[in-house]
Amino acid sequence: MKVTKSKIFAAAVALLFAFSAVSCGKEVPKTNQDSTSFNISGGTVENTEPTTTSADVEEPEMTTETATAFVVGKKLSGVTLSYEEAEVYIGQTLTYPVVYDTIEEVWSSSDEKIATVDSVGNITGKAEGKCIISVVDKNDDTKGAEVKVTVKKGTGIETTNGLTYVGGILIANKSYSLPESYNPGGLTSETYSAFQELVEGAAKDGISIYLSSGFRSYELQSQIYNNYVNAYGQATADTFSARPGYSEHQTGMAIDVNIIDDSFTGTPEAIWLEAHCNEYGFILRYPYGKQDITGYKYEPWHIRYIGKDNAKAFREEADRRDDVNLTLEEYLDIDSHYN
Ligand SMILES: [Zn+2]
Repeated sequence: MKVTKSKIFAAAVALLFAFSAVSCGKEVPKTNQDSTSFNISGGTVENTEPTTTSADVEEPEMTTETATAFVVGKKLSGVTLSYEEAEVYIGQTLTYPVVYDTIEEVWSSSDEKIATVDSVGNITGKAEGKCIISVVDKNDDTKGAEVKVTVKKGTGIETTNGLTYVGGILIANKSYSLPESYNPGGLTSETYSAFQELVEGAAKDGISIYLSSGFRSYELQSQIYNNYVNAYGQATADTFSARPGYSEHQTGMAIDVNIIDDSFTGTPEAIWLEAHCNEYGFILRYPYGKQDITGYKYEPWHIRYIGKDNAKAFREEADRRDDVNLTLEEYLDIDSHYN
């Protein structure tokens, strides 16, 4: 069964987990009285803005000159899946294929460097190539089925269900908005666990990083933005606060850490974050001196999860360009401005 890209993306959209560990409690819209965390002239308001080798059987029809052939360890049968072939971008996660037979599912990947699979069958692309994702019955390991997975390095812009992916990375900036209905319910589970690793890594270096603002829903961003419009007018509000649907915080993959204002700049925590966040799958989203490109002023506290493989590739590109302040917009060759 062929799975179209749009079906894959639709499935990916359905996958985002509701992760409620990060409560919205601390993400109450800032009132006009709450001036401690912003400074319009300094442009520091961020609270507002809002990725085997057992070669018995080969399948020659999948072999191309550039791609490795799928390698299958053993023949599985007796189980039917909703799809048996899939394409996924590095860093993208596909919703599990439905298993139409009653078995105790055990999922595995023939090559976890290419794609991984979780305990329910959700498939995540890790590196360019091909591999087999298998499900077998825990009680009979000859009973099962396989999904041929091709992991691609994404290029170009893909839009499905109102979501824009570039190179498999979900984009939310001033050019590419999110639908009002898009609500992962909190930070995505991958983002949250990667952030926990980051916090632990920082602690080992004697650096304290903590979450100040994570997921913000469309509705919450509306409240925040409208408060600012009422107080300062839209033109001014647009200089520091994202319009609803345009905030990266709605993706569930953006986090503001520690102190959300200019006093965070140059602190040991900010310096550590800039040097090490890539190791944990994050990038600094609004680097210094790139306001004309990102549409936002320097925000050393705002990090975005793009997955470890993507973040590593991003860092390597920054090194190639000799630009420590490389932006996602430059990396993906997209723009960010309200139309
Ligand atoms: Zn932020």
